[in-house]
Amino acid sequence: MAEAQELLRKYYGYPDFREGQKRVIESLLSGRDTLGIMPTGGGKSICYQVPALMMDGTTIVVSPLISLMKDQVDGLDSIGVPAAYINSSLSYAQVEMRIRKAERGEYKLLYVAPERLESERFLDLLAGLVVPMVAVDEAHCVSQWGHDFRPSYMRINELVSHLPDRPLLAAFTATATDQVREDIVKHLKLSEPQVFVTGFARENLSFSVIKGENKRDVLMGYIREHAGEAGIVYAATRKEVDQLCEYLLRQGVAAGKYHAGLTDKERADAQERFLYDEVRVMVASNAFGMGIDKSNVRYVVHFNMPKNMEAYYQEAGRAGRDGEPSDCMLLFSPQDIHIQKFLIEQSVSDPERQAQEYRRLQQMADYCHTPQCLQRYIVRYFGGEAEEDCGQCSNCVSPDMEMTDITLEAQQIFSCVKRMRERFGMTLVASVLKGSRNKKVLDFGFDSLSTYGLMRTRTEKDIVDLIQLLVAEGYLQLTEGKYPVLRLSSKASDVLSGKERVVQRIRLKPSAPVVQDLET
Ligand code: ADP
Repeated sequence: MAEAQELLRKYYGYPDFREGQKRVIESLLSGRDTLGIMPTGGGKSICYQVPALMMDGTTIVVSPLISLMKDQVDGLDSIGVPAAYINSSLSYAQVEMRIRKAERGEYKLLYVAPERLESERFLDLLAGLVVPMVAVDEAHCVSQWGHDFRPSYMRINELVSHLPDRPLLAAFTATATDQVREDIVKHLKLSEPQVFVTGFARENLSFSVIKGENKRDVLMGYIREHAGEAGIVYAATRKEVDQLCEYLLRQGVAAGKYHAGLTDKERADAQERFLYDEVRVMVASNAFGMGIDKSNVRYVVHFNMPKNMEAYYQEAGRAGRDGEPSDCMLLFSPQDIHIQKFLIEQSVSDPERQAQEYRRLQQMADYCHTPQCLQRYIVRYFGGEAEEDCGQCSNCVSPDMEMTDITLEAQQIFSCVKRMRERFGMTLVASVLKGSRNKKVLDFGFDSLSTYGLMRTRTEKDIVDLIQLLVAEGYLQLTEGKYPVLRLSSKASDVLSGKERVVQRIRLKPSAPVVQDLET
């Protein structure tokens, strides 16, 4: 490891590895196949570049993003590490020349696009190289369960078996689901890999979730307070991007926009102007950001909730790449859940996959409702360990939140769910607890339940908020599918039986006073 550290200093100028980098590099240097679960910006390049420098021969890096490949190679060039890339931007003669150079051992790293691996001839060419290691970036592309399946990733194994000596395999992804991780191990044929989850805690980022306020007002207020700083505002649809950008321009904000409906030139211009700080605020759809590396983005605001935590964290993580304090703010409204459900329905037809997407959407909604430290929620979601609260997210610093015992309210909700036989969603459960006389409640005869009207002094919205909190904390579960149904989890039974209390960091609004009929 001392040699690795020396190379880090010499080539990159950093005094130390980050904790996670160290573990990944140690694992690779000990000769073990390794799977690194790391976010974009988590510093994974160094995890394979430093070991590549220490091994004889040329490490092959499979990477799906052409623009990123060029950036990486330019970066390596500038620090004096010989590297090259091979992708569709080159002529055949150029490809052959690079391979010949590689055969002479002139490169430490060779980046290739996965599509190249489709060609048997290309694989034969590579078979002449000494390849100590194959590093696979965005390894979730090998899984049909991932959001980005690339059939040519299935060919990576072909590449490995074409080589005279079996190279070490290093795979990287930022995807949390077990299914995708299993697929990576299976399809890349990783041999007894060590798996490390690392880099998800970003100390310079302050997360916040804002609910129940006028989003435009909140956004405008924030932008005014941070005038002169660069920020990205993500919105869910092209229409929303257009409208929001227009609104900001009307308010005198130097805003630009980016979405897939614009021409290539419009997009390139917008990106350029943002990179050079001519435009401070970029309003964008999720099409913006693949491969852009602007280090001084001071805030990322999500005007709508994204479809899952992976998408959220990838976008939010574009803030503060330079390590300076930066904000990640999510403006939540329940409407966002409907938008995302609609988008899932439109884009995913397989029922099993739909169910998985709904589940991930629910975990995203849970993030918006958890009273826990947000940074901690993120780290745990991705499977990492988070010992301490971050002390700076909106849940950690919110002055008006205190530990409140909500056992009684939780018991009322749980027994109502139980009496309704765990067959209904949260809106109806809330209506029953409120004692609403709406048609559905009466049609099902829920007005005769003992829990009917138990929470009549609260608003239905407050009751729904409480239910969402209990879902986020794992007391209640929502079934998958378009119309999720509330179920009790085993944690809830302990609360119902009085074995466990529910104490949460929230400010429970006092319930409205019961108006007494005054005798006159
Ligand atoms: P990824 O490839 O995971 O997107 P990068 O390798 O580009 O991430 O690293 C993200 C940023 O962190 C870069 O600016 C990089 O220079 C910096 N970085 C990586 N490792 C270290 C380290 N050990 N010490 C300081 N900065 C680092």
